[in-house]
Amino acid sequence: MEKLTHFIDGNMVEGSSGRYGDVFDPATGQVQKQVPLASADELDAAVKAAAAAFPAWAALPALRRARCMFRLKNLLDEHKDQLAGLLTSEHGKVKDDALGEVTRGLEVVEFACGAPQLLKGEFTDTVGSGVDAWSFRQPLGVVAGITPFNFPAMVPLWMIPMALVCGNTFVLKPSERDPGASMLLAELVQRAGVPDGVFNVVHGDREAVDAILAHDDIKAISFVGSTPIAKKIYEVGSANGKRVQALGGAKNHMVVMPDAPLEATADALMGSAYGSAGERCMAISVAVVVGDETADALIAELKPRVQALSIQPGNVEGAEMGPLITADHHAKVSGYVSLGVEEGAELVVDGRGFKHAKETEGFFIGGCLFDHVKADMRIYQEEIFGPVLCVLRVDSYDEAVDLINAHVYGNGVSIFTRDGDAARNFVQHIQVGMVGVNIPIPVPMAFHSFGGWKQSLFGDHHIYGPEGIRFYTRVKAVTQRWHTGIRKGADFHFPQLG
Ligand code: NAD
Repeated sequence: MEKLTHFIDGNMVEGSSGRYGDVFDPATGQVQKQVPLASADELDAAVKAAAAAFPAWAALPALRRARCMFRLKNLLDEHKDQLAGLLTSEHGKVKDDALGEVTRGLEVVEFACGAPQLLKGEFTDTVGSGVDAWSFRQPLGVVAGITPFNFPAMVPLWMIPMALVCGNTFVLKPSERDPGASMLLAELVQRAGVPDGVFNVVHGDREAVDAILAHDDIKAISFVGSTPIAKKIYEVGSANGKRVQALGGAKNHMVVMPDAPLEATADALMGSAYGSAGERCMAISVAVVVGDETADALIAELKPRVQALSIQPGNVEGAEMGPLITADHHAKVSGYVSLGVEEGAELVVDGRGFKHAKETEGFFIGGCLFDHVKADMRIYQEEIFGPVLCVLRVDSYDEAVDLINAHVYGNGVSIFTRDGDAARNFVQHIQVGMVGVNIPIPVPMAFHSFGGWKQSLFGDHHIYGPEGIRFYTRVKAVTQRWHTGIRKGADFHFPQLG
């Protein structure tokens, strides 16, 4: 059985804690490799390597660090298929989806290539007689990233290029459920010319995360995962004096207005609700449909599409949806579907009994569609993170907005309509961080920043893009006078330069 290693100070390092986790092939249900689960000592070794590498890396011109990113971009392009193959094998997502994930991660590397421009400071000459002032950004030191299972390449790439190009050194603790992609990323980062110790990977579970939270030499933490853990990371990390951005879970709504083009809206909902088996933080899991007539027509469009989903191992040509990540997660998602029935929602399509003809042990589930879901039901209030779409019927646009604004999550949202006034009003008034107008998965491009509101993000900074530069640096302000401008005699009043 293949055993993964950590990546510390440029070396593949075997786990020494004696603890290992199983990595499954979700399509077959079989364990395919084992991942070491680090102790606090192993985490400390990675932090020491990162701390030792920091001064020289931070002192490099940003242009030199950016050149590493240019090389990393090329290497990622060359290894796109290999990386996507790892994602399909360990996560289960279909090949095209895996390739899309790699591309969205790569775009952050491309953004980071612009570091010399992005890190430029501000300068004002002659703020006083013979006095100039400027401010510039410096890296924080050793920073850590803790990432979820659902984007094993893209989410680490939301962090690594941004943190590194700003001059920080990095310790990544990827999800223990699909850790393979992070090892290929480590190899490519090294081949891109990033010096040993600047980037490290430590695998693990709660023990490694608690060690990150407690470590004095870690200056900042980027976390992406579920809300309860995000909240804990933010609270404990901040209390320990670290800068924290902690992105959490979601329940993303799509408002379907009576004037929305029905077929196109149903197609958009299919990709967004069932793509990646619903295991996306930006998946639409709730359609809020205005008017019974629109809802009846939409259900009629959706039902045959959900029943006809091609559910296959991710490497099968033409597969639209792969399996869920683990048997436990399968049980959780099926449990929510049963709960929805108990709560009184109408289960239009029931995917619980789905078994793949060949891979009978795989963690497959069919697409599920609920109609007549009510706002007080748990299947509406809680994140299911599976291929389960809930349809809620409302009487008006205002009712749809009030419903969404009352939800605890505020990650992504979308409106499908032909009415520009309604769309503009929606963009202005909806209490959600990322908004789509006739776009079902409005993930911001790499040169904007990604982040939700309410219980979907803890901290002040969104991730990657301009916000990423701000998160991974701090500002220093300098006021400078040379001898020619120095006046004789002591001044005892508060300095006034102008
Ligand atoms: P998770 O919270 O279970 O795990 C995330 C990370 O935290 C992993 O590295 C894991 O090892 C670690 N972890 C798990 N339990 C822990 C504990 N008790 N103490 C300390 N660390 C712990 O999340 P997941 O199941 O891997 O990922 C799915 C979740 O991530 C969903 O809720 C999804 O919405 C969310 N997500 C959010 C975004 C976003 O941008 N907001 C993006 C992707 C995923």
